[in-house]
Amino acid sequence: MAGIDAELAARRRRIRLLKKLIIIVPLSTILILFILCIILGVRLYFVTKELRNLRTQIETTAVIEQTDPVEDTVESDSLQLYTTSEVDESERIVDAGLEETPEAEEGIRKVYLTFDDGPSSNTGRILDILAEYDVKATFFVVGKEEEEYQALYNRIVQEGHTLAMHSYSHKYNEIYQSIDSYAADLNKLQEFLYDTTGVWCRYCRFPGGSSNTVSSVDMHDLIAYLDEQDMTYFDWNISSGDAASAYISPEDIIKNCTGNIQDFDKAMILMHDASNKDSTVEALPALIETIQALEDTKIVPITDDTEPIHHISND
Ligand SMILES: [Zn+2]
Repeated sequence: MAGIDAELAARRRRIRLLKKLIIIVPLSTILILFILCIILGVRLYFVTKELRNLRTQIETTAVIEQTDPVEDTVESDSLQLYTTSEVDESERIVDAGLEETPEAEEGIRKVYLTFDDGPSSNTGRILDILAEYDVKATFFVVGKEEEEYQALYNRIVQEGHTLAMHSYSHKYNEIYQSIDSYAADLNKLQEFLYDTTGVWCRYCRFPGGSSNTVSSVDMHDLIAYLDEQDMTYFDWNISSGDAASAYISPEDIIKNCTGNIQDFDKAMILMHDASNKDSTVEALPALIETIQALEDTKIVPITDDTEPIHHISND
């Protein structure tokens, strides 16, 4: 009898254990899956955030120029006035900006309108507006061999604006591979601009600015290279916000450009000269008028006297 009782008791224990297992196993599986979901969810959140940051960074620093045929007839007409053959060699200026008036006045706020990524099908319109207001700007250009662009490089110079270098190819993955690849791209642009306009450019702006985080090369090394070459680079302290891929209204561009302009003695405004940046062109007249209405404020091009704005220190 005692043997049977013991066997029964053992059996009950086994059944109780089995019952517990039946509850515990699925419960703990669900719990583990739940924890895994939370961990994955958190990771996904950070990865998405990082991606969004990177995307914004790329968008705000690089307007990848689409192929930019000058198809608009008005544009083509205005271009005809400035075909390369009409550029008199003797009129070519050998050093951009040198003949500009010195910017020595104390207490005068200087505003620099700077256009990256041109020339484009919008350059002619930008130049027309600048001429209308008798305002000089700075163009950080890329390399475009087609004939219609040659006329635009020359117009920039002939109309008294500062011609400066951005990048020949504007391809981040190529130029930021090594010092040599950066130097090759910049030298190619420098020589191309000299052949096209007679200007030996010494001012440049890094694609993405000196604070870009896409370069495989330490930006300080590239800055040291520019120093060796007696070239000066310029970042910006005000962004028009026109580099984002999404549409930005002319009103928002003006707000971005002038919202905190009073905080700066030297305001260097980043804008883009690209075929798909019509709202930048549309914003320009009112932007110039708003700036000119500010007290003790002058719009000037970059010259040898311009103290550069730098995002990172030179050391
Ligand atoms: Zn650019």
